[in-house]
Amino acid sequence: MKALDELTFDNRFARLGDAFSTHVLPEPLDEPRLVVASSAAMALLDLDPAVAETPVFAELFSGHKLWAEAEPRAMVYSGHQFGGYTPQLGDGRGLLLGEVYNAAGEHWDLHLKGAGMTPYSRMGDGRAVLRSSIREFLASEALHALGIPSSRALCVVGSSTPVWREKQERGAMVLRLAHSHIRFGHFEYFYYTKKPEQQAELAEHVLNLHYPECREQPEPYLAMFREIVERNAEMIAKWQAYGFCHGVMNTDNMSILGITFDFGPFAFLDDFDAHFICNHSDHEGRYSFSNQVPIGQWNLSALAQALTPFISVDALKEALGLYLPLYQAHYLDLMRRRLGLTTAEEDDQKLVERLLKLMQNSGVDYTLFFRRLGDEPAALAVARLRDDFVDLAGFDAWAELYKARVARDGDYSEVQRRERMHAVNPLYILRNYLAQNAIAAAESGDYSEVRRLHEVLSKPFEEQPGMEQYAQRPPDWGKHLEISCSS
Ligand code: AMP
Ligand code: MG
Repeated sequence: MKALDELTFDNRFARLGDAFSTHVLPEPLDEPRLVVASSAAMALLDLDPAVAETPVFAELFSGHKLWAEAEPRAMVYSGHQFGGYTPQLGDGRGLLLGEVYNAAGEHWDLHLKGAGMTPYSRMGDGRAVLRSSIREFLASEALHALGIPSSRALCVVGSSTPVWREKQERGAMVLRLAHSHIRFGHFEYFYYTKKPEQQAELAEHVLNLHYPECREQPEPYLAMFREIVERNAEMIAKWQAYGFCHGVMNTDNMSILGITFDFGPFAFLDDFDAHFICNHSDHEGRYSFSNQVPIGQWNLSALAQALTPFISVDALKEALGLYLPLYQAHYLDLMRRRLGLTTAEEDDQKLVERLLKLMQNSGVDYTLFFRRLGDEPAALAVARLRDDFVDLAGFDAWAELYKARVARDGDYSEVQRRERMHAVNPLYILRNYLAQNAIAAAESGDYSEVRRLHEVLSKPFEEQPGMEQYAQRPPDWGKHLEISCSS
């Protein structure tokens, strides 16, 4: 276990130099106070969880103090936003403080979001508000606990610094951890600004540090792109299987590592709705829940375009062709497991599709449906869940197919079925209204609800006594909360 001053830095991205990032010091927030810290994320840095309560912790993660070996840099990138190309973006309110490596030899980027203005702030103020910082913290740790690849969050530090959004709010910073903060948009930036040398340097950097196994392949860059395609297919399959809606799948928000990244107006589905749009500003529904699947491919094509200096167009197209079949295979595998099935049959895809069609516009809670399905043997469970559906005849027909399918699947006990299903069907997810309750309390200075919610979501599959209120459907006020990009 390490103390805060014992972290070891190795700032590999900073060493790429000024063409890739700019040295900027964080701009401190007034009266910093710890809102919440993740002991699991602290463990990634070998940090003793007790240090979160020391004053220096809040000072370090609010811009007041800095390690001597940190090299804070604002990274430059660009990206396709809502389908259109924006030639220059970058860390407008975040800074890569440095890269720390732990006892296991893993490197973790320390990225401080809300750290003040940088050369890439454009019209923004460089700040993040408490509300959005709490949402990013809770989401990244909750996704990780669900087994969905994500950036991690070490802590949120709040302050008394006023920040203007639609109304006056308070500034906060969230410390994000990832093995890399390189985005699709980094490659796009050097491609569209016609800087082949820097682009090659970036590609070498990513290949050497993050995809070293691809070096062994006859065409290392192609192998790396294939791996990125595969990771994205798997990540998005998990989003779809668990009802996660990212909200702003611009290419500048897509990690080169295939992890969920840059949280804005995200949401987990409450009632199942394939057309759900979580971002209030996404008027056309470009990033609606079901569109995430084709958008994943669209984003990979944008990356492929930026990689044309290194890889032939035919090879890129072939690799892109892997995305959909891989997505479908991962998705079906997860949905089978959510249904409690251990074998594969040809018609399983149809069984899943029919179920989702019945759920659509029926007001069925997506998470609780699967959890309850595993509570009891199939026949009892479907009989109990039936009343939630509008099309009862349709549901009865599905239930017959499902029971027959379960019977063919194997002969296992009720306990085996429950344990297996509960291990993949969470009881607790980050519902918007739960986040909202925690935010409202935090805005009035009470951080206990954020901390409790974080704890509950760190064990989403385990029934936690006394925490029943976190496993409920939203109340009416919490069903249609409007979340916009202004964070
Ligand atoms: P996002 O939609 O949060 O992924 O941000 C898109 C771009 O806008 C990125 O380059 C961000 O750094 C920048 N940005 C977002 N909010 C702010 C802000 N308050 N101040 C400065 N830049 C910002
Ligand atoms: Mg972003």
